[in-house]
Amino acid sequence: MKLGIVGLPNVGKSTLFNAITQAGAESANYPFCTIEPNVGVVAVPDKRLDVLEKMYNSRKKVHASIEFYDIAGLVKGASQGEGLGNKFLSHIREVAAIVHVVRAFDDENIVHVDGSVDPVRDIETINLELIFSDIEVLDRRIEKTVKLARSGDKKAKAEFELQERIKVHLEAGKPVRTLEVTEDEAEIIKGYFLLTSKPVLYVANISEEDLMNGSMENEYVKKIKEYATQENSEVVVISAKIEEELSSLDEEEKRELLADYGLEETGLDKLIHSSYKLLGLMSFLTAGEQEVRAWTINIGTKAPAAAGKIHSDIERGFIRAEIISYDKLVECGSEAAAKEKGYYRLEGKDYVMQDGDVVNFRFNV
Ligand code: GDP
Repeated sequence: MKLGIVGLPNVGKSTLFNAITQAGAESANYPFCTIEPNVGVVAVPDKRLDVLEKMYNSRKKVHASIEFYDIAGLVKGASQGEGLGNKFLSHIREVAAIVHVVRAFDDENIVHVDGSVDPVRDIETINLELIFSDIEVLDRRIEKTVKLARSGDKKAKAEFELQERIKVHLEAGKPVRTLEVTEDEAEIIKGYFLLTSKPVLYVANISEEDLMNGSMENEYVKKIKEYATQENSEVVVISAKIEEELSSLDEEEKRELLADYGLEETGLDKLIHSSYKLLGLMSFLTAGEQEVRAWTINIGTKAPAAAGKIHSDIERGFIRAEIISYDKLVECGSEAAAKEKGYYRLEGKDYVMQDGDVVNFRFNV
């Protein structure tokens, strides 16, 4: 479940990526590893773990994590092989979602590849390259489908119609994620691995000055938000430079600096939370003396599959799940008190897990 960071050159991708990898390295609770120089693993901040750690006197705390992939080198003409071209497009193919960094700061010393700061033009430049690449991929599919349809394949005929609809949409300069489709069609489209069908989060990179002055909504940001809204995407506003600085500090220093800026949460934390949501992920929790831990599952996962995240034996021998919601547990102050009040629920194999469920699985193998 990787996210790919894309954007034009000089918009702040590497700066943001440094912040991410440093934050990973600083987080003692996540066994940080650099898989490749351009992949960063980062803990998903979760204050609930701190509370449970105290409540249970746990010896260990383990956060959920996500991976960011720095996909540098995307430029105008990439789909025609400009820059390192297609190589980068193939990297985007591997990620589940896209973090698109857009420059929203003025700085005469930092050259813009297209001569001026214009976030919407920048977004469209990148999106067009992805669209071109999708058209190419789709054309090859259409060729195959036509052959099948000619040989009398009924399913191919229906699929051809869908493919033509996608093509018209792409040729109008629109990403596949904004095409209105049925659930079945969406499932088929997934199998095409089109770049513009991936969910996107836009990151508006503003200057330190704007952040300090509380101008999080500068003119550039407004334009980015307008653009994102019409395709139902989210925007996270950060200053990559400041994030890089913040990520090298310890918790105490970080809190002080944030307070100076009048902020409650780092931009990186905001980005990580939004990314988690973008991927359709949520966390359930386990707590005990040995460890407190957040486990990542897809929204809508049922109890046995969630158990399988911990160990395949627990899924195989699943009997039921003993569950209390985090809020109720905190309200009662302890597991014993919550049990006394009857807040623990026994849930069966059809139970759909909720974010913040504190779980104890019963199993038998
Ligand atoms: P990339 O090519 O997208 O990876 O961009 P970089 O991260 O290398 O950033 C390009 C230049 O912009 C570097 O000199 C950064 O220091 C600078 N930069 C990045 N983010 C900010 C920011 O928030 N404010 C300012 N003033 N400069 C930034």
